[in-house]
Amino acid sequence: MWTKTDFEIVVVGGGIVGLAAAYKIARSHPGVRLAVLEKEDRVAGHQTGHNSGVIHSGLYYQPGSAKAATCMAGRRELLEFARTHEIPHEICGKLIVATGEAELPGLEKILQNGLANGVEGLEAIGPERLREIEPGVTGIAALHVPSAGIIDFVKVAQKLGELIEQSGAHNKVLVAHEVTGFDKHDFYTNVLTKPGTFSTRYVINCAGLQCDRVARMDGIEPPVRIIPFRGDYAELTPAAAGKVRNLVYPVPNPAFPFLGVHFTRMIGGGVECGPNAVFSLKREGYGKTDFELRDAWESLSYPGTWLLFARHWKYGLGEYARAFSKKRLLAQLQRLVPSLVLEDLHPGPAGVRAQALAPNGVLVDDFKIEARGNFIHVLNAPSPAATAALAIGDHIHRIAAEHFGL
Ligand SMILES: Cc1cc2nc3c(=O)[nH]c(=O)nc-3n(C[C@H](O)[C@H](O)[C@H](O)COP(=O)(O)OP(=O)(O)OC[C@H]3O[C@@H](n4cnc5c(N)ncnc54)[C@H](O)[C@@H]3O)c2cc1C
Repeated sequence: MWTKTDFEIVVVGGGIVGLAAAYKIARSHPGVRLAVLEKEDRVAGHQTGHNSGVIHSGLYYQPGSAKAATCMAGRRELLEFARTHEIPHEICGKLIVATGEAELPGLEKILQNGLANGVEGLEAIGPERLREIEPGVTGIAALHVPSAGIIDFVKVAQKLGELIEQSGAHNKVLVAHEVTGFDKHDFYTNVLTKPGTFSTRYVINCAGLQCDRVARMDGIEPPVRIIPFRGDYAELTPAAAGKVRNLVYPVPNPAFPFLGVHFTRMIGGGVECGPNAVFSLKREGYGKTDFELRDAWESLSYPGTWLLFARHWKYGLGEYARAFSKKRLLAQLQRLVPSLVLEDLHPGPAGVRAQALAPNGVLVDDFKIEARGNFIHVLNAPSPAATAALAIGDHIHRIAAEHFGL
């Protein structure tokens, strides 16, 4: 039986992924009435507004993976979007620097991945060329990545929100609308929010740090659990900011999907150093000692967490030690920039990654999007999902077209 609903599609989550998906659908289907429901009082309030602001070039990702494909395509589209809508960005290039012999195979692997993914302009360089590009940085070899850049992802998200609303009077981006449940019927679903209830035919869950919980509201047990990993940043003082010109990264530990503590010139000015990756006891906790019982219980009662701890306890303790000791953090940063001193660093912001963990303790590396009935669930959208968002939006649009018959 056909029922007139408030919306045809409700997207849960006003981060860059939800907004990009809604934007792509709104552009291709002007007649479809859609709403993005965001629980905070602004869009981009969590991962999208707490990240490094780096436009990734597609280097690190397994050739053939969704991350590789969407990062390459999304990056191109992001740059065009930024040019069209005058969003601050800059293609400043980056260096991945090996500081010891043991890191050379990892650097070579990244180069090969980058070449296989079609990243342009990659150059393996030695210490002399490294010093020309970044005089303050020391290493035995490096990879120069001229296509990497920096951008203001919050402005991208805000612009997507504006364009969604401009695409039709029936399209809405509603902040301060936390989705608390779904009341499902055969041909429609009532989406319960604190300010009121909306009926819709289809739902797309892009709730980031809460995506597994929103999936459970749909009555399914998701195959992964979101485990929050906080990343703390330090900032270089204005006097020390000249020690790094652009983006300087270490060779990442291949066992983890995190890129390692790096130096990032921010598009709004200043240089950030970070983020580390610390198991967090609060999903939306940006302070070092933040704790929430429900979040802690859900992480610690999950068998995958203990398998992860058992396998990587040494790495985890190292990250904790650096989170609480400025001296240890400095020692890590000095491997890349030896002239740094304690006085060059002051505390910066923090972000929390929504990292999907499988029950066997394996961190899910690739993006994970599942369609079930009238719902699509984005269950893992870690970095580089901000860079890749417009291409992820296309992918979600294709799934919606197929499953919802748009
Ligand atoms: C520290 C850090 C550094 C990173 N650096 C980079 C980088 O340099 N470059 C890059 O490309 N990527 C980077 N990333 C990754 C990137 O930021 C994320 O992959 C991307 O922002 C994910 O977007 P999202 O929309 O899925 O999630 P989010 O931005 O977290 O959005 C999800 C939204 O859903 C909302 N929500 C949750 N539950 C509900 C509910 N019940 N009802 C309504 N709304 C709800 C939340 O409030 C939130 O606004 C980084 C991430 C972190 C954490």
